[in-house]
Amino acid sequence: MAKLLEGKILASKIKKELIEEISDLRSKTHNIPVLASILIGENEGAKIYTACQKKAAEELGIEYRLKKLQDSISEKELIDFIERLNRDSSVTGIIIQMPLPQQIDQKTITSFISANKDVEGMHPENLGKILLGKSKIVPCTAKAAFELVKSTEINLYGKEVVVVGHSEIVGKPLSLLFLGEFATTTVCHIGTSEAARLIEHVNRAEILCVAVGKAGLIKGQWIKEGAIVVDIGINRLDGRLIGDVEFAEASKRASYITPVPGGVGPLTTTMLMKNTVEAYKLQKL
Ligand code: NAD
Repeated sequence: MAKLLEGKILASKIKKELIEEISDLRSKTHNIPVLASILIGENEGAKIYTACQKKAAEELGIEYRLKKLQDSISEKELIDFIERLNRDSSVTGIIIQMPLPQQIDQKTITSFISANKDVEGMHPENLGKILLGKSKIVPCTAKAAFELVKSTEINLYGKEVVVVGHSEIVGKPLSLLFLGEFATTTVCHIGTSEAARLIEHVNRAEILCVAVGKAGLIKGQWIKEGAIVVDIGINRLDGRLIGDVEFAEASKRASYITPVPGGVGPLTTTMLMKNTVEAYKLQKL
């Protein structure tokens, strides 16, 4: 039976380290990280996220400044707003809450955040640095999944890693992190499924990370005996949250598995805070 890889255990260890680091930074710089969070329009989900982020930030000693904007804002007005935050030296991190109104293109907007303040790690410069193995700020969910795998103390060198899902925010950066450790990394996506080749890849994965958003896509019986399984997917089914992997069956074969909820999710906000501290160091040290 697989051991559970619970995000909150690793999150509490990282939070302790961050509290110490922030207190150290406060002594050195006589200041603290300030995270500006842009919330556009009224969205219940985003309101819950920002409340969570505010609590997490303040517990660690980070100031959280919520900036609410009207959902009628134009792209140009939003860019001007971001550029003012870029110039404001009291703001050391910027995050834009999703979803964005129709008239705003997410990729365009992200590229206007100063790379040193981009705590989500989605600026082209930060994404490019992952490729070069020089990243300080990595997209939070990818980093959370990667750190959960590393917490098992597995040596990644030469291991068969399969990442299912190739989004820019999760699958692609995650696969680059594994490549950086010399894991033999395969990335699967909708094309793999449509070519009916998903099972053969999943079958040989010693480490399997899934970020698709389709409940039960990965059958428990596909899992290789002893594999580490990180399920990043979040799906709502009959009023409860489940992942992309059939948990009960997969648990019988895996050595480690993340629960959903309780796996990657609780670590993601902590990674956002870690990025906020990295951004602060890039600017103030
Ligand atoms: P996305 O929609 O941007 O990307 C989905 C990926 O899945 C694509 O690469 C697509 O090709 C692939 N895909 C779709 N159908 C497939 C199939 N049948 N077989 C194989 N691959 C298939 O999604 P995303 O933003 O990367 O998010 C993926 C999942 O992770 C979602 O469930 C999302 O809710 C979850 N997520 C969780 C967290 C967290 O904190 N735990 C954060 C972000 C996203």
